[in-house]
Amino acid sequence: MAGSTPHPCLGRRVRRLSDPANEKDTALNVFALLHGVGSIGLFSSRAFVTAFVTAMLMRFGAELPWVSGSEMIVNVQGAPSWFTSDMTLTVLGILAALEVLATKNADIRAAIEQFDPYVKPTIAFLTHLGVVSATDAKFIEEASQAGYVDYLATFVIVPGVWFLTQARTALFGLLSEADEDDDIGIQKLISWAEDIGVIGGLVLLVLFPLAMLVLIGIVSGTLVLVRRRAETREQKSKQPCGACGQPMYPSALACPSCAAKNPSPRAIGFLGQSLDTPAPGPDAQAYRLVEKKRCPVCAERLTDRTAPQDCPACGHRVLADQAFVDGYVANVASRVPGVLSICAVLSSIPVIGLIPGVIIYRVQLVSPFRRYMPFARRMFLKGVVAILLFILIAFQWVPVAGAAVVPLMAIINYTAYRGALSKQLASAASAVQASAG
Ligand SMILES: [Zn+2]
Ligand SMILES: [Zn+2]
Repeated sequence: MAGSTPHPCLGRRVRRLSDPANEKDTALNVFALLHGVGSIGLFSSRAFVTAFVTAMLMRFGAELPWVSGSEMIVNVQGAPSWFTSDMTLTVLGILAALEVLATKNADIRAAIEQFDPYVKPTIAFLTHLGVVSATDAKFIEEASQAGYVDYLATFVIVPGVWFLTQARTALFGLLSEADEDDDIGIQKLISWAEDIGVIGGLVLLVLFPLAMLVLIGIVSGTLVLVRRRAETREQKSKQPCGACGQPMYPSALACPSCAAKNPSPRAIGFLGQSLDTPAPGPDAQAYRLVEKKRCPVCAERLTDRTAPQDCPACGHRVLADQAFVDGYVANVASRVPGVLSICAVLSSIPVIGLIPGVIIYRVQLVSPFRRYMPFARRMFLKGVVAILLFILIAFQWVPVAGAAVVPLMAIINYTAYRGALSKQLASAASAVQASAG
């Protein structure tokens, strides 16, 4: 990248070599440098939003109330560039809007995350070229002669964005593993906070470049550290099996390597982590593990969104045994009266009772079934249920009748997802029988 293809600003560099040096040029390129380094953290979060807001600030920044005071913005004004053209702004604007929308849906978010490590560094690189081309000036000429600008893009921005994107994806992966459908809504909340943080971060980067550089550095560093800690904690939580010495989750009922029984399995928490308290009993523990998307035998994480499926560690076929499936469904069914009572109490509180009510029934009654359904089936059910729910929510504000709304929503969802998973498992079982016979 740095050597063979000519840099976009090379042509202008030759033309402008005779230009007299001035202070404006230096200011412009401090912007390119600070923006390049400072936005690494922002690109790893929202690449298109960062690119779009950068281009907008460069084009219109001087007309905005606070930003116009920034020396950088004033100096960028009037610099003609492909990066700040109407065409680029329109395309980036559309892509940024799509990026914001896409990150609000758990399924779409998971799908696009696979491409993030390639897309985000590329957009960061192109944006840096765009900023450089708009701030093309003497400083770049000098810097380019030393290869400074090219080095910055190639060896700092691109790998920096790549690295932070991986760290962020891994961290968010832990959240979505624990709560794939975002039943609690925390992932959506974080997603909105990120949107605001990225846009605000860029504006502040222009206004207080050095302070923001430090702040973005601290946030990015924390992200990497938290990710590393979470990873090692997961591994450290394993203990050697008493029979064969291989690592085993404390919450496992048996060792994945030698199948020896775990003499004292530990209970598991909401996020699927092993707790210090003893497990409730082998059956209850097995149901609880499956509910948390873990193997009911060795407690390994299950990766696929389908059932039945094979455990990646011990090979146990999860949710294939009809007696186990019946027990699993009955275990969830036993919560229905309690959950409905709580939902009725919450539902009688107009408007604000709705959100905790919905979270409780989704986590307790719906998620145990929905976690094992493939994408198409989930979308279909969502559509069917949505129409009924929409009508119900319209009446939730009515003081007395409102109390029935959340319990009704819970019953509709519970019945629909329970029925759909039972059907899915039954057709899988008959397929197995057909192929055997
Ligand atoms: Zn063992
Ligand atoms: Zn297993």
